[in-house]
Amino acid sequence: MIVVASSNGRIGINAATEILRQGGTAVDAVEAGIRLVEANPEDHSVGYNGYPNILGEVELDASMMNGRTLESGAVGALKGYVHAITLARQVMERLPHVLLVGDGASRFAAEMGHVPQPEMLQPETRTVWANCLRANMSDSDIEAIGERTDLARWVELATDPERTKGTVNFIAQDKNGNICTGVSTSGWAWKYPGRLGDSPIIGAGNYADNRYGAAACTGMGEMAIRASTAHSLVFYLKMGLSLAEASERAMADLRDLGGRYISVMNLVAIDKEGNHAGYSSAEDRSYIYQTPDMPECEELPRTVVSIPPRWGKTGLQRI
Ligand code: ASP
Repeated sequence: MIVVASSNGRIGINAATEILRQGGTAVDAVEAGIRLVEANPEDHSVGYNGYPNILGEVELDASMMNGRTLESGAVGALKGYVHAITLARQVMERLPHVLLVGDGASRFAAEMGHVPQPEMLQPETRTVWANCLRANMSDSDIEAIGERTDLARWVELATDPERTKGTVNFIAQDKNGNICTGVSTSGWAWKYPGRLGDSPIIGAGNYADNRYGAAACTGMGEMAIRASTAHSLVFYLKMGLSLAEASERAMADLRDLGGRYISVMNLVAIDKEGNHAGYSSAEDRSYIYQTPDMPECEELPRTVVSIPPRWGKTGLQRI
Protein backbone atom coordinates (compact mmCIF):
# COMPACT_ATOMS: atom_id res chain seq x y z
CA MET A 1 0.00 0.00 0.00
CA ILE A 2 1.29 3.42 -0.89
CA VAL A 3 0.31 6.96 -1.82
CA VAL A 4 2.58 8.97 -4.13
CA ALA A 5 1.92 12.64 -4.94
CA SER A 6 3.39 15.79 -6.37
CA SER A 7 4.85 17.87 -3.54
CA ASN A 8 1.83 20.22 -3.41
CA GLY A 9 -0.19 17.14 -2.37
CA ARG A 10 1.34 17.37 1.12
CA ILE A 11 -1.86 18.89 2.53
CA GLY A 12 -3.84 15.82 1.46
CA ILE A 13 -1.49 12.85 1.64
CA ASN A 14 -2.16 12.02 5.31
CA ALA A 15 -5.89 11.80 4.68
CA ALA A 16 -5.30 9.61 1.64
CA THR A 17 -2.94 7.30 3.55
CA GLU A 18 -5.37 7.05 6.45
CA ILE A 19 -8.02 5.71 4.09
CA LEU A 20 -5.66 2.96 2.95
CA ARG A 21 -4.68 2.27 6.57
CA GLN A 22 -8.37 1.74 7.38
CA GLY A 23 -8.67 -0.73 4.49
CA GLY A 24 -10.28 1.76 2.07
CA THR A 25 -9.87 1.80 -1.68
CA ALA A 26 -7.28 3.53 -3.82
CA VAL A 27 -10.11 5.47 -5.51
CA ASP A 28 -11.34 6.85 -2.18
CA ALA A 29 -7.79 7.68 -1.10
CA VAL A 30 -7.00 9.64 -4.26
CA GLU A 31 -10.25 11.59 -4.16
CA ALA A 32 -9.85 12.49 -0.47
CA GLY A 33 -6.26 13.64 -0.92
CA ILE A 34 -6.97 15.79 -3.95
CA ARG A 35 -10.10 17.40 -2.46
CA LEU A 36 -7.95 18.92 0.30
CA VAL A 37 -5.59 20.42 -2.28
CA GLU A 38 -8.52 21.76 -4.33
CA ALA A 39 -9.93 23.49 -1.23
CA ASN A 40 -6.59 25.10 -0.32
CA PRO A 41 -6.66 28.81 -1.29
CA GLU A 42 -2.86 28.99 -0.97
CA ASP A 43 -2.39 26.68 -3.95
CA HIS A 44 -2.87 28.78 -7.08
CA SER A 45 -2.49 25.85 -9.43
CA VAL A 46 -5.46 23.74 -8.30
CA GLY A 47 -9.14 24.24 -7.45
CA TYR A 48 -10.40 27.21 -5.44
CA ASN A 49 -8.35 30.38 -5.96
CA GLY A 50 -6.37 28.81 -8.79
CA TYR A 51 -4.98 31.23 -11.36
CA PRO A 52 -7.61 32.09 -14.00
CA ASN A 53 -7.60 32.10 -17.78
CA ILE A 54 -6.82 35.29 -19.69
CA LEU A 55 -10.38 36.55 -19.13
CA GLY A 56 -9.97 36.22 -15.36
CA GLU A 57 -12.19 33.12 -15.13
CA VAL A 58 -11.05 30.00 -13.25
CA GLU A 59 -11.38 26.89 -15.44
CA LEU A 60 -10.56 23.55 -13.82
CA ASP A 61 -9.39 20.28 -15.40
CA ALA A 62 -9.27 16.92 -13.59
CA SER A 63 -9.25 13.21 -14.23
CA MET A 64 -9.31 9.90 -12.42
CA MET A 65 -8.42 6.43 -13.66
CA ASN A 66 -9.18 3.13 -11.96
CA GLY A 67 -6.35 0.71 -12.74
CA ARG A 68 -8.46 -2.34 -11.95
CA THR A 69 -10.95 -1.79 -14.76
CA LEU A 70 -9.29 1.02 -16.75
CA GLU A 71 -12.50 2.99 -16.20
CA SER A 72 -11.81 6.70 -16.36
CA GLY A 73 -13.56 9.99 -15.81
CA ALA A 74 -12.52 13.53 -16.57
CA VAL A 75 -13.77 17.09 -16.66
CA GLY A 76 -12.30 20.05 -18.52
CA ALA A 77 -12.77 23.83 -18.43
CA LEU A 78 -15.14 23.43 -15.48
CA LYS A 79 -16.38 26.78 -14.15
CA GLY A 80 -18.08 27.62 -10.87
CA TYR A 81 -17.30 24.49 -8.84
CA VAL A 82 -14.29 23.60 -6.68
CA HIS A 83 -14.10 19.82 -6.56
CA ALA A 84 -13.24 18.84 -10.11
CA ILE A 85 -11.78 15.51 -8.95
CA THR A 86 -15.07 14.42 -7.39
CA LEU A 87 -16.87 15.35 -10.57
CA ALA A 88 -14.31 13.38 -12.61
CA ARG A 89 -14.99 10.38 -10.38
CA GLN A 90 -18.73 10.84 -10.89
CA VAL A 91 -18.26 10.94 -14.66
CA MET A 92 -16.41 7.63 -14.30
CA GLU A 93 -18.99 6.02 -12.02
CA ARG A 94 -22.31 7.56 -13.07
CA LEU A 95 -22.08 8.06 -16.82
CA PRO A 96 -21.21 5.92 -19.83
CA HIS A 97 -18.83 8.76 -20.85
CA VAL A 98 -15.23 9.58 -20.00
CA LEU A 99 -14.86 13.34 -20.55
CA LEU A 100 -17.24 16.28 -20.00
CA VAL A 101 -16.21 19.87 -20.67
CA GLY A 102 -17.44 23.42 -20.17
CA ASP A 103 -21.17 24.01 -19.70
CA GLY A 104 -21.89 20.28 -19.76
CA ALA A 105 -19.45 19.69 -16.91
CA SER A 106 -21.03 22.50 -14.84
CA ARG A 107 -24.48 21.17 -15.58
CA PHE A 108 -23.44 17.70 -14.39
CA ALA A 109 -21.91 19.21 -11.22
CA ALA A 110 -25.24 20.84 -10.41
CA GLU A 111 -27.04 17.58 -11.12
CA MET A 112 -24.67 15.72 -8.77
CA GLY A 113 -25.41 18.21 -6.00
CA HIS A 114 -22.05 20.03 -5.94
CA VAL A 115 -22.16 23.36 -4.12
CA PRO A 116 -21.69 26.20 -6.63
CA GLN A 117 -18.82 28.60 -5.98
CA PRO A 118 -19.63 31.67 -8.09
CA GLU A 119 -16.49 33.52 -6.97
CA MET A 120 -13.58 31.15 -7.44
CA LEU A 121 -10.93 33.85 -6.94
CA GLN A 122 -9.86 35.69 -3.82
CA PRO A 123 -9.33 39.43 -4.46
CA GLU A 124 -5.50 39.22 -4.18
CA THR A 125 -5.40 36.55 -6.85
CA ARG A 126 -7.55 38.68 -9.14
CA THR A 127 -5.04 41.47 -8.56
CA VAL A 128 -2.14 39.20 -9.57
CA TRP A 129 -4.01 38.43 -12.82
CA ALA A 130 -4.77 42.11 -13.49
CA ASN A 131 -1.20 43.18 -12.68
CA CYS A 132 0.22 40.60 -15.07
CA LEU A 133 -1.96 41.91 -17.87
CA ARG A 134 -1.31 45.51 -16.85
CA ALA A 135 2.39 45.10 -17.66
CA ASN A 136 1.36 45.06 -21.32
CA MET A 137 -2.26 46.28 -21.50
CA SER A 138 -4.01 49.49 -20.48
CA ASP A 139 -6.71 49.38 -17.79
CA SER A 140 -9.40 49.97 -20.41
CA ASP A 141 -8.01 47.07 -22.46
CA ILE A 142 -8.25 44.84 -19.39
CA GLU A 143 -11.81 45.95 -18.62
CA ALA A 144 -12.91 45.14 -22.15
CA ILE A 145 -10.91 41.98 -22.47
CA GLY A 146 -14.05 39.84 -22.84
CA GLU A 147 -14.88 41.60 -26.10
CA ARG A 148 -11.47 41.30 -27.73
CA THR A 149 -11.06 39.39 -30.94
CA ASP A 150 -7.26 39.13 -30.66
CA LEU A 151 -6.91 37.06 -27.48
CA ALA A 152 -4.44 34.69 -29.15
CA ARG A 153 -1.86 37.44 -29.27
CA TRP A 154 -2.33 38.35 -25.64
CA VAL A 155 -2.20 34.74 -24.46
CA GLU A 156 1.21 34.41 -26.01
CA LEU A 157 2.24 37.58 -24.23
CA ALA A 158 1.06 36.59 -20.78
CA THR A 159 1.90 32.93 -20.52
CA ASP A 160 5.16 32.14 -18.83
CA PRO A 161 5.99 28.44 -18.79
CA GLU A 162 8.19 28.83 -15.74
CA ARG A 163 5.86 30.80 -13.51
CA THR A 164 2.25 30.18 -14.19
CA LYS A 165 1.54 26.50 -13.99
CA GLY A 166 1.06 23.66 -11.53
CA THR A 167 -1.12 20.64 -10.91
CA VAL A 168 -1.64 18.02 -8.23
CA ASN A 169 -0.97 14.33 -8.93
CA PHE A 170 -2.00 11.49 -6.61
CA ILE A 171 -1.38 7.78 -7.19
CA ALA A 172 -2.56 5.23 -4.61
CA GLN A 173 -2.30 1.45 -4.40
CA ASP A 174 -4.60 -0.21 -1.87
CA LYS A 175 -4.44 -3.49 0.05
CA ASN A 176 -5.91 -5.40 -2.88
CA GLY A 177 -3.20 -4.11 -5.22
CA ASN A 178 -5.67 -1.82 -6.97
CA ILE A 179 -4.15 1.36 -8.33
CA CYS A 180 -5.88 4.68 -8.90
CA THR A 181 -4.48 7.92 -10.31
CA GLY A 182 -5.98 11.38 -9.94
CA VAL A 183 -4.93 14.71 -11.39
CA SER A 184 -6.46 18.14 -10.77
CA THR A 185 -5.44 21.61 -11.93
CA SER A 186 -6.53 25.11 -12.81
CA GLY A 187 -4.14 24.74 -15.74
CA TRP A 188 -1.88 27.40 -17.08
CA ALA A 189 -2.56 30.84 -15.77
CA TRP A 190 -3.84 33.27 -18.41
CA LYS A 191 -4.52 30.41 -20.83
CA TYR A 192 -6.86 30.84 -23.78
CA PRO A 193 -10.48 30.19 -22.65
CA GLY A 194 -11.40 26.57 -23.23
CA ARG A 195 -7.83 25.35 -23.36
CA LEU A 196 -7.45 21.84 -21.92
CA GLY A 197 -4.09 20.60 -20.70
CA ASP A 198 -2.94 17.05 -20.13
CA SER A 199 -4.71 16.69 -16.78
CA PRO A 200 -8.16 15.72 -18.18
CA ILE A 201 -6.70 13.69 -21.05
CA ILE A 202 -6.42 10.01 -20.14
CA GLY A 203 -3.07 8.71 -21.33
CA ALA A 204 -1.50 12.18 -21.36
CA GLY A 205 -1.53 13.44 -17.76
CA ASN A 206 -2.87 10.30 -16.13
CA TYR A 207 -2.84 6.54 -16.67
CA ALA A 208 -3.23 3.51 -14.39
CA ASP A 209 -3.27 -0.20 -15.08
CA ASN A 210 -3.05 -2.62 -12.13
CA ARG A 211 -1.16 -5.11 -14.26
CA TYR A 212 1.83 -2.79 -14.78
CA GLY A 213 1.69 0.47 -12.81
CA ALA A 214 0.64 4.09 -13.14
CA ALA A 215 1.91 7.54 -14.01
CA ALA A 216 0.76 11.15 -13.72
CA CYS A 217 2.21 14.41 -15.00
CA THR A 218 2.61 18.06 -14.16
CA GLY A 219 4.21 20.72 -16.31
CA MET A 220 3.50 21.83 -19.85
CA GLY A 221 0.43 19.76 -20.60
CA GLU A 222 0.66 20.24 -24.35
CA MET A 223 3.89 18.23 -24.32
CA ALA A 224 2.35 15.34 -22.38
CA ILE A 225 -0.63 15.33 -24.77
CA ARG A 226 1.67 15.15 -27.80
CA ALA A 227 3.83 12.37 -26.34
CA SER A 228 0.98 10.49 -24.54
CA THR A 229 3.36 10.53 -21.61
CA ALA A 230 1.44 8.77 -18.83
CA HIS A 231 0.33 5.97 -21.14
CA SER A 232 3.79 5.67 -22.69
CA LEU A 233 5.41 5.17 -19.33
CA VAL A 234 2.94 2.42 -18.40
CA PHE A 235 3.37 0.89 -21.85
CA TYR A 236 7.14 0.78 -21.33
CA LEU A 237 6.51 -1.06 -18.03
CA LYS A 238 4.29 -3.47 -19.97
CA MET A 239 7.17 -4.06 -22.37
CA GLY A 240 9.24 -5.26 -19.42
CA LEU A 241 11.29 -2.16 -18.63
CA SER A 242 12.04 -1.33 -15.02
CA LEU A 243 10.34 1.70 -13.44
CA ALA A 244 13.51 3.78 -13.86
CA GLU A 245 13.96 2.73 -17.50
CA ALA A 246 10.30 3.34 -18.31
CA SER A 247 10.39 6.79 -16.69
CA GLU A 248 13.58 7.72 -18.52
CA ARG A 249 12.11 6.59 -21.86
CA ALA A 250 8.95 8.64 -21.26
CA MET A 251 11.06 11.71 -20.41
CA ALA A 252 13.27 11.10 -23.48
CA ASP A 253 10.14 11.09 -25.69
CA LEU A 254 9.31 14.54 -24.29
CA ARG A 255 12.87 15.74 -24.84
CA ASP A 256 12.74 14.64 -28.49
CA LEU A 257 9.59 16.64 -29.32
CA GLY A 258 10.04 19.23 -32.04
CA GLY A 259 8.18 22.50 -32.38
CA ARG A 260 8.40 25.97 -30.90
CA TYR A 261 6.97 25.45 -27.43
CA ILE A 262 8.94 23.24 -25.08
CA SER A 263 9.03 23.81 -21.33
CA VAL A 264 9.29 21.97 -18.01
CA MET A 265 7.76 18.52 -17.55
CA ASN A 266 7.49 16.40 -14.42
CA LEU A 267 6.08 12.96 -13.71
CA VAL A 268 5.44 10.61 -10.81
CA ALA A 269 4.99 6.88 -11.31
CA ILE A 270 4.69 3.54 -9.58
CA ASP A 271 5.06 -0.02 -10.80
CA LYS A 272 2.72 -2.83 -9.77
CA GLU A 273 5.00 -3.72 -6.85
CA GLY A 274 4.49 -0.23 -5.44
CA ASN A 275 8.00 1.01 -6.23
CA HIS A 276 7.84 4.76 -6.87
CA ALA A 277 9.69 7.34 -8.93
CA GLY A 278 9.64 11.06 -9.63
CA TYR A 279 11.24 12.72 -12.67
CA SER A 280 11.57 16.31 -13.81
CA SER A 281 13.28 18.28 -16.51
CA ALA A 282 14.02 21.00 -13.93
CA GLU A 283 16.50 20.98 -11.05
CA ASP A 284 15.38 20.94 -7.42
CA ARG A 285 11.91 19.44 -7.91
CA SER A 286 10.58 16.91 -5.42
CA TYR A 287 7.69 14.51 -4.87
CA ILE A 288 6.24 12.84 -1.79
CA TYR A 289 5.12 9.38 -0.79
CA GLN A 290 3.64 7.75 2.29
CA THR A 291 2.89 4.16 3.29
CA PRO A 292 0.47 3.25 6.09
CA ASP A 293 3.32 2.49 8.51
CA MET A 294 4.72 6.04 8.09
CA PRO A 295 3.28 8.77 10.37
CA GLU A 296 4.21 11.47 7.83
CA CYS A 297 5.11 11.55 4.18
CA GLU A 298 8.69 11.59 2.96
CA GLU A 299 9.85 14.10 0.35
CA LEU A 300 12.32 12.88 -2.28
CA PRO A 301 14.18 14.70 -5.05
CA ARG A 302 13.04 14.00 -8.59
CA THR A 303 15.57 12.52 -10.98
CA VAL A 304 16.47 15.13 -13.61
CA VAL A 305 16.30 14.43 -17.33
CA SER A 306 17.26 17.61 -19.13
CA ILE A 307 14.82 19.01 -21.73
CA PRO A 308 16.18 22.26 -23.19
CA PRO A 309 13.32 24.82 -23.19
CA ARG A 310 12.20 26.75 -26.30
CA TRP A 311 9.50 29.39 -26.25
CA GLY A 312 8.01 30.92 -29.38
CA LYS A 313 9.42 33.90 -31.19
CA THR A 314 7.06 36.83 -30.90
CA GLY A 315 9.39 39.53 -29.68
CA LEU A 316 6.77 40.41 -27.06
CA GLN A 317 7.92 40.79 -23.49
CA ARG A 318 6.88 37.86 -21.33
CA ILE A 319 5.68 38.56 -17.81
N1 ASP B 1 -0.10 20.25 -16.64
C1 ASP B 1 -0.89 21.40 -16.35
C2 ASP B 1 -1.51 21.91 -17.60
O1 ASP B 1 -0.88 21.85 -18.65
C3 ASP B 1 -0.16 22.53 -15.72
C4 ASP B 1 0.99 22.17 -14.84
O2 ASP B 1 1.06 21.10 -14.32
O3 ASP B 1 1.87 23.00 -14.64
O4 ASP B 1 -2.59 22.43 -17.52
